[in-house]
Amino acid sequence: MKLHEYQSKTIFSKYGIPIPRGQVAANARDVQQIATQLGRRVVIKAQVLVGGRGKAGGVKLADTPEAAKELADVILHLNIKGLPVRNVLVDEAIEIAQEIYLGITIDRAAKRATLIASSAGGVEIEEVARTTPEKIIRAPIDPALGLQDFQARAVAFKIGLDKNLVNDFAAITRALYRVFADTDASLAEINPLAVTKDGGLIAADGKIVLDDNALYRHPDLEALRDGDEEDASERAARKAGLSFVKLDGNIGCMVNGAGLAMATMDVIKFYGGEPANFLDIGGGARSEKVKTALEIILSDANVKGVLINIFGGITRGDEVARGVVDGLREIKTNVPMIARIVGTNAEEGRRILASAQMITAQTLEEGAQKAVAAAKGKS
Ligand code: GDP
Ligand code: MN
Repeated sequence: MKLHEYQSKTIFSKYGIPIPRGQVAANARDVQQIATQLGRRVVIKAQVLVGGRGKAGGVKLADTPEAAKELADVILHLNIKGLPVRNVLVDEAIEIAQEIYLGITIDRAAKRATLIASSAGGVEIEEVARTTPEKIIRAPIDPALGLQDFQARAVAFKIGLDKNLVNDFAAITRALYRVFADTDASLAEINPLAVTKDGGLIAADGKIVLDDNALYRHPDLEALRDGDEEDASERAARKAGLSFVKLDGNIGCMVNGAGLAMATMDVIKFYGGEPANFLDIGGGARSEKVKTALEIILSDANVKGVLINIFGGITRGDEVARGVVDGLREIKTNVPMIARIVGTNAEEGRRILASAQMITAQTLEEGAQKAVAAAKGKS
């Protein structure tokens, strides 16, 4: 789950990271009022849960409250990467001398959190990472010791930070690590951490991505969820207790168990196809849940074939089959469906599916090949 910039900054601030004064607004009149209160140049920032807002025109500086109102009116009507802007953050503008990138994320290969920093932060950070990777400094963090002061200082020197700023930088970096650890985040990022013209450091942007699997122990953070920002299919999946990730391919996948879902995607790729999603219906899924899963998969217009891969254990093959058939009765689709069911009650499941004129397969390889062919219009 992603937090908005204003939510991330509020958390940062509680941990002692300096942030600009500011407030969120949903309409241009409020923006004008906030700008008047701040009494100086402001920056108006679209609060949408995607990166690259600046490049998309979602971040603008305004010299006067009237200009702030006008710009807010434009930004509040923007659609950034498919997401309508419902709120803007109005912050006092910072006089930026340099933009530093500072982030903490999990390095899966190193099996630990890693501090990442660069002197070349800002909206081009991906480009920097691609063309001049030597400008990206990393420091792995020992989970038992946490981020050590000497590590933060070493990073400060490596990015060429003015020595007067090193202590502040170390304090901000260690606070960011505490945010990361305390919230069970998968990413805590400040980009840019601005070096101001009068020689200070301040978080001009903020981003926290929380680990969904740890959210159960953070009801206060769960309460920050912005339902409006969620993709409709992701919301439907979450409510139905399905674990779902949308992807760019054209073969919908419905699988029970995360490991099997991964394997299914791999086999589809192996035979030259592209999965349209990851979907784990979980163990013991009943027909209602299967139906919802199918609805979610078929709501994606890219889907040209669906592979249903069920390994019956707790999940019964006949239940899944009945869910699929029930679902198809209501959904009405021409998308070819390929089902491979083995394990508990697989025989009966296959009988039910055959009666619904579904393509069946005995093995995952066969199922994947048939799904790839179907998606290419060859079934
Ligand atoms: P993002 O594009 O979604 O990462 O949004 P950011 O909040 O990082 O803003 C994008 C860019 O706008 C930053 O990299 C800065 O160059 C600029 N910017 C943001 N806030 C300020 C500000 O207060 N003052 C100035 N001068 N520039 C800002
Ligand atoms: Mn940014």
